[in-house]
Amino acid sequence: MSRYWSPLVEQLSPYVPGEQPGRETFIKLNTNELPWPPSPRVLEAVHGVGGGSLRLYPDPDNSRLREAWAKREGLLPEQVFLGNGSDEVLAHVFRALFDPRRPVLFPDITYSFFPVYCALHGLKYQTIPLAENFGIELGAYPAANGGVIFPNPNAPTGMALPRAEIEALLAANRESVVVVDEAYVDFGAETCLPLVNHYDNLLVVQTLSKSRGLAGLRVGAAFGQAPLIEGLRRVKNSFNSYPLGRLAETGAVAALEDEAWFLSSCARLTGNRTSLFEGLLSLDFQVLPSMANFLLARHPRHKGRALSAGLRERGILVRHFQLPRISDHLRISVGAQEHCHALLEGLGKILQEE
Ligand SMILES: *Cc1c(COP(=O)(O)O)cnc(C)c1O
Repeated sequence: MSRYWSPLVEQLSPYVPGEQPGRETFIKLNTNELPWPPSPRVLEAVHGVGGGSLRLYPDPDNSRLREAWAKREGLLPEQVFLGNGSDEVLAHVFRALFDPRRPVLFPDITYSFFPVYCALHGLKYQTIPLAENFGIELGAYPAANGGVIFPNPNAPTGMALPRAEIEALLAANRESVVVVDEAYVDFGAETCLPLVNHYDNLLVVQTLSKSRGLAGLRVGAAFGQAPLIEGLRRVKNSFNSYPLGRLAETGAVAALEDEAWFLSSCARLTGNRTSLFEGLLSLDFQVLPSMANFLLARHPRHKGRALSAGLRERGILVRHFQLPRISDHLRISVGAQEHCHALLEGLGKILQEE
């Protein structure tokens, strides 16, 4: 607290990211990073950036990356907006595209950054409860809203909606923008990118942080029709002309060009997800059906907090949310095979002891 804080700052309750421990000996299954390094082409490309060029500001429009990403998705460069991680993209979305006169709608159990952005940008919001089975029920979203946002697959449940259900909402909800946060879409859900040219109220947000293994590079994007993207650019250019540096842009282009690495990495990850899912079931956990690179699981006879603390003592980090309906769940990032084995072994021992 300081008497010099603005009235807004006093009222904020900032997002709390998952722990990033200083010591590397933890098995980190708490922030949904990819468990192995990114495509080797990324580092090669970054090494190739001439040191002298770092003297110069990067291209404020990051045209090379916009063109590469647009081409990969069959869109035009003016349909792509880039940011310093998709979190920054999302922050600009709340500012540029949501209407402060009506509540922004999102699920009650979802990415906990959404209410934080609302507070930062002076937006009202209304949360819509997930169904009994933890699925998002888009039919329950009221028409009078200042915008709709949800991740697909949802976080932290991992559950995905079919594209057809999202299309029905886009068709019914013509008065505001619908934002689909596709941070985890590459692990098996249906992307809404094919709908971009059909709906002027759709914005799709993606990131290189999860499926490309580049959380440390900080690159995210939004895809939508050109007028929506222009709105985002107006906010970005009122905030920071150069959110993506030269190293990030070059690394990101290289990542998008290595489709073979991408496909095999996603296949390996989803294979590990299947075996982790089965391993948890065999320990009597109830596990939600996940299309993401994490699983949300609870044990009928053990508290989430105790399980998470027990794992931590064994050098394994998972995420536990002290929130209604999921306070006994653990969100477990799918790791490499040896991480998943260590997790299952650790849980097995904790269940025996307690
Ligand atoms: C991880 C995550 C993001 C943000 O990722 P960046 O690293 O900022 O690109 C956005 N939305 C959801 C739901 C996430 O889980």
